[in-house]
Amino acid sequence: VAELISEVIVFSALEKSLYYSTPPELQDKVRVGSRVLIPLGRKEAMGLIYALHDGPVAVPAGVNIRPLTAVVDSSPVITEELVALCRWISSYYFYPPGEVVQAALPAGIEITPLTFLRLTSVGREEVKSGYSSELVKLLVREERALLQELKGKPDFRKQLRKELELLEKKGWIERVFECRPPAVRSRTVKSVRLAMPPDPAASAKNESLRSLIRALEQGGEWIPVRELRRSIKNCDYWVRKLEADGVLQAAEIEELRESQCAQSIPPVVPPSLTADQNAVMEAVLPHIERPSFQAFLVYGVTGSGKTEIYLRLVEETVKQGKGALVLVPEIALSTQLEALFRQRFGARLAVWHSGLSPGVRYDQWREILAGKRSVILGVRSSIFMPVSNLGIIIVDEEHDASYKQEDRLRYHARDVALMRASKLGIPIVLGSATPSLQSLNHCRTKRYHLLSIPGRVLDRPLPTFQVVDMRRERGGSRIISNALRKELLETVQNGEQALLFLNRRGFATFYLCPECGNVVQCLHCSVSLTYHQKDDCLRCHYCGSERPVPDRCPDCDHGALTAVGFGTERIEEEVKKILPGAGIVRIDRDTASQPRNMLKLLDAVRCRRADVLIGTQMIAKGHDFPHITLVGVVNADTALQISDFRAGESTVQLLMQVAGRAGRGEKPGRVILQTYNPQHYTIRSVVNMDYMEFCKEELASREKLQYPPYTRMLKLLVTAPNEGVTRDAAHLLASLSREASDLLSEHNRHVAVLGPAPAPVQKLNNRFRWHIYIKGWTSQDLQLFIEAVMDRMKTVPQLRRVQIAVDRDPVSSF
Ligand code: ADP
Ligand code: ZN
Repeated sequence: VAELISEVIVFSALEKSLYYSTPPELQDKVRVGSRVLIPLGRKEAMGLIYALHDGPVAVPAGVNIRPLTAVVDSSPVITEELVALCRWISSYYFYPPGEVVQAALPAGIEITPLTFLRLTSVGREEVKSGYSSELVKLLVREERALLQELKGKPDFRKQLRKELELLEKKGWIERVFECRPPAVRSRTVKSVRLAMPPDPAASAKNESLRSLIRALEQGGEWIPVRELRRSIKNCDYWVRKLEADGVLQAAEIEELRESQCAQSIPPVVPPSLTADQNAVMEAVLPHIERPSFQAFLVYGVTGSGKTEIYLRLVEETVKQGKGALVLVPEIALSTQLEALFRQRFGARLAVWHSGLSPGVRYDQWREILAGKRSVILGVRSSIFMPVSNLGIIIVDEEHDASYKQEDRLRYHARDVALMRASKLGIPIVLGSATPSLQSLNHCRTKRYHLLSIPGRVLDRPLPTFQVVDMRRERGGSRIISNALRKELLETVQNGEQALLFLNRRGFATFYLCPECGNVVQCLHCSVSLTYHQKDDCLRCHYCGSERPVPDRCPDCDHGALTAVGFGTERIEEEVKKILPGAGIVRIDRDTASQPRNMLKLLDAVRCRRADVLIGTQMIAKGHDFPHITLVGVVNADTALQISDFRAGESTVQLLMQVAGRAGRGEKPGRVILQTYNPQHYTIRSVVNMDYMEFCKEELASREKLQYPPYTRMLKLLVTAPNEGVTRDAAHLLASLSREASDLLSEHNRHVAVLGPAPAPVQKLNNRFRWHIYIKGWTSQDLQLFIEAVMDRMKTVPQLRRVQIAVDRDPVSSF
């Protein structure tokens, strides 16, 4: 009989997989993707079966292959298909395989299950015929014992352990494993309702009491007290009083957890498709029916009806009995689409984002694994969902930078999606109104199919533009120009909605000492602090730490610091002055860090309780608010200040996305761009709404400068708490890299090493940061290069004092 070897990875930073023999009694229990207990050194560890090999495997000399201890799962926790994907991710992004798999499992799934001991049937017979001991007594009494608990007992080492070993060997005691699902907390809120009609005479006396009773009468069933508090003075007092009088009944009522979407969208009959939409369907459908890997880029202007195309494609896939995965860049978008998807796919739909509690996520994940849910709509990490029989992957807003994870496993969900689709041999649809240059370049080289939708549905016009040169602005404020003010007033007076966009939250951008020029900085990061008026503090937008506004300059002790620049909080104040009494909703990370808050705010816009929506890039993309007719970009230049070769691309994408929020309904839209650089090529491209023209220019310049997509990049990020250590290690790593690159070029494989240099944010969370950029002409060259560098790195003890992160295809440059 050929020997069955299990290749196992452990859930830690170990880079290599380990090999174990498979004892006969475990042979039909081992499956790729199941967790196993293994001996590791002198301890027992938890691992996952990465692969099964028939027959001998090559292991380094001196390593002896030991047997697996036990199989934990009765069925795999991760599908074989995903295991293969993880293997690719691990090698492409240089990340330990065990940690990749862990990232693919939902947070909260216990990596280490509980181990229980219990008597086997043989054991129970032996007990009946008179055998007894401490351990056996315990197992008879309690039925089972938690091993981890047993190990804590003082006599475990002396007595219990020997006995356990003995009885396990005899087959009288066995181990069973149990994985507890993450605690599902149901949330209750104190709620009230009327118990009897109130006495009208009693309530006449007090204004608050009157409004409380009115709210109770109008509110119908249970109303959360929290909500009443907002509009009623001394609410808790009156609630207690009415409760004592028996007029009102109070109870803790369970609130639905957030798996159900909170946004109200009236049900609609699906529209019949336009000719352009149909053309896309016809191109993609054959590849769903007869599955083959094919990448499509749907380049459709904002409002061209891409969402309807996604819905139809998923519908067709589901009809064929297959699953579909739809990725969106942000929670806000997934919750907006959730309503649409739920209308069409009902209980088959699973949504996936960080706004869901671990319990909800765990339940959904198990149903996906069991094949009960086949349509998944979610953010970046849903690319790891174990959808069975996947038939299509759709990536909406494929250009969006939030698909890239910026810490730990630095993967790009769109690129992983492409790999997953290609391994599975299924079609993938990337959609955007402003596709990434990378994807457009793939269309040029015929790796992707380009499907364009040049116009909005129903021939709705694209918005018109007005550029306001802020250098010439007189009389008006330096924040909201006369032109924007006039349009704002008009829009709201006409009963329409306006959106003001500024990619900076807070009140003032920074605090400056007019005497010495010092800017108040974060104590933990090398960035300036932003003033937040509501909390009257300075806040770091990188690490979140806060400090009070200093009275005097920390450097020169000068007395009066001045606030410079402005953020969304300040815009809100300006709008209140222009439009007193208007409904204003501000959405940024200060007001909407919790998904449920964000949903409420978005709902206020949708239900037209808000006239003006102010926000950061959180509101720039994807949303479909048909009553917004005016979009004001308060400062079109903010994104340009980044020193990155992508600054132009991301500015144009962002501005076009924001502009695309205007005029999506029946009324046409207007966009006002306030800028200090009206002649800048990015501003001109946006105003002309000619994205392709911009891309042509931009691609030409990238080619000349040898930037991606014509080359491939990789960033090595060196960090440590000590400045000198970080710098020295970065220099060392750079020279190692140069040696490796010299060696490669002898084999005609060229990579360029740029740096080292301090990162733009030199210090973050008390760690100093240096980086080295590596440029290669092919992906394969980069792979060979980094493997060579990683091998060398291990031999240099100085490099152990720092953390080195590999960022492949880096997106951000901070
Ligand atoms: P995009 O995602 O391309 O920006 P959406 O999918 O949000 O565009 O579509 C914009 C609007 O047009 C939505 O309100 C949508 O309901 C509507 N719409 C989409 N397809 C059609 C169609 N075939 N007929 C009529 N209206 C449509
Ligand atoms: Zn900070």
